[in-house]
Amino acid sequence: MMRESYASENDVGFKRVNPDLGPVVIVGGAGKLGGLFAQLFTLSGYEVRILDQDDWDNADALLKDAGAVVVSVPIERTEAVIQRLPQLNPDCLLLDLTSIKQAPLAAMLKAHPGPVLGLHPMFGPDVASLAKQVVVVCHGRDEAAYQWLLQQIQIWGARLHEATASEHDQAMQLVQAMRHFTAFVYGLHLKREHADIEQLLQFSSPIYRLELAMVGRLFAQDPSLYADIIFAQPDALARARHYLARYQEALALLEAGDKAGFCAQFADVAEWFGDFAQQFRNESANMLMVANDSRSG
Ligand code: NAD
Repeated sequence: MMRESYASENDVGFKRVNPDLGPVVIVGGAGKLGGLFAQLFTLSGYEVRILDQDDWDNADALLKDAGAVVVSVPIERTEAVIQRLPQLNPDCLLLDLTSIKQAPLAAMLKAHPGPVLGLHPMFGPDVASLAKQVVVVCHGRDEAAYQWLLQQIQIWGARLHEATASEHDQAMQLVQAMRHFTAFVYGLHLKREHADIEQLLQFSSPIYRLELAMVGRLFAQDPSLYADIIFAQPDALARARHYLARYQEALALLEAGDKAGFCAQFADVAEWFGDFAQQFRNESANMLMVANDSRSG
């Protein structure tokens, strides 16, 4: 129901929360995520201008009367792009959509004395609508000046989740960097083992199919986005080494034929998951029912 109402709203546009705002300039707006936000702002009646790679000669004119500047360029360019911005109007909102938050937020606070906001949309540019999606909000400076945008994002259908930039980056380490890294390794393993995907699917239960889909979908996307997400995390290497150490611990149980040790560790982890274990079991059973109904092959 929710999805339908947002999808149809999409066709006719959204309510505009801040009618007095000057143009919204999207730096990197020719890209995937910047393009999605350009569309959302346009559908809400804001004037949108794109400042992409080749538009810097024109930057002063594009930014002159800007009401908000949205930075949406590849992660490793974000800080340089923020530093390159000319002096903005004091009341202009400077925000970014980067998948990491500490470094971009610090760079924006340094570059601009006015309102600053860090956002991380927890979805890709291919979503049909923002309904049920999450946007992480890292406050920068002068919250009152950008309440309109937080309301606007909720009108687009997304839910906001507030966090400090360092909380965000820490969580992302597990939610994104490590997850994508392990999926990458699993994909690499399947390839090196010459796994026959067709055949695996013939043998597989619905749960395996779902797991394989979660890994396989990674490889339908842009490698550099994932490289950026994994490599941009300051402690990615240390975390990956911890993970490898855990794998080696588990491997030692296998080497020793220590089934009892395996079961003891298993019980330990189960206790740590607590009520979530059963909750996840129920949730995944529902997901499997839906996935089974809708699968294409
Ligand atoms: P993209 O490569 O599709 O778009 C980046 C855009 O930036 C391109 O149009 C490129 O030409 C432009 N650009 C590069 N250098 C520039 C410069 N110096 N000046 C102006 N423009 C420049 O990438 P994307 O997937 O849209 O990602 C953009 C940002 O959004 C990244 O910070 C990423 O972390 C974040 N993000 C992406 C996703 C996603 O799923 N794609 C999700 C959440 C957050």
